[in-house]
Amino acid sequence: MNLIFLGAPGSGKGTQAVRLAEKISVLHLSTGDLLRAAVKNGTELGKKAEQFMTAGELVPDDVIVGLIEEKQTSGALGSGFILDGFPRTIPQAEALDAMFGRVGAKIDRAVLLDVDDEEIIKRLSGRMYCSGCQAGYNYPANMPKVEGVCDKCGGKLVRRPDDEPDVVKNRLEVYKKQTQPIENYYRNQSVLLEIKGIGTPNDIFGRIEEGLGVA
Ligand code: AMP
Repeated sequence: MNLIFLGAPGSGKGTQAVRLAEKISVLHLSTGDLLRAAVKNGTELGKKAEQFMTAGELVPDDVIVGLIEEKQTSGALGSGFILDGFPRTIPQAEALDAMFGRVGAKIDRAVLLDVDDEEIIKRLSGRMYCSGCQAGYNYPANMPKVEGVCDKCGGKLVRRPDDEPDVVKNRLEVYKKQTQPIENYYRNQSVLLEIKGIGTPNDIFGRIEEGLGVA
């Protein structure tokens, strides 16, 4: 199964995409995770991407499309995948279609997690992750046993620089302006699956399983 996960920052798409990829045994590919690793390791890609990410802006289409093209030509996407955070613009969606068109592949479903702005801001302001093992936490729903310390590895919990309140506001605006139009792009291709993204993670996962027929 070839899937795309769509949704505003903080909609829970990362959490749900990881869980679903494990359940249906396909690759989970998050462009945000790839870019954060590149920034951390100081690679060329990281140097190109960092200033955009820190400001909550999108990395230029050619950079990100090049990254996905590399994955596709290396065969990493051949046995099914969930793309999490890509595409994020109409040109990226078109580039993806062209890339798959050349090898006779297609996107089966684009799963959209629908969450209102108020809830998004609340979630992002409570989001922390471990600077050691990258495990995610959310205050107050999923707090560590010891304040500021990862339950799994004892690492220090930090906030993503782009989860700071000013940057969050910009990321939401960028989402509305540049990413939301792709909802219609996939609606027009009759592959959009809209899921209510409010409730417990288990409830939301159940809706996704049901919608995709993999329960
Ligand atoms: P995420 O973890 O998906 O919220 O992504 C974090 C940041 O990485 C975004 O705010 C963008 O700066 C950058 N990014 C991730 N995916 C893309 C993409 N498909 N196109 C452009 N920028 C991206």
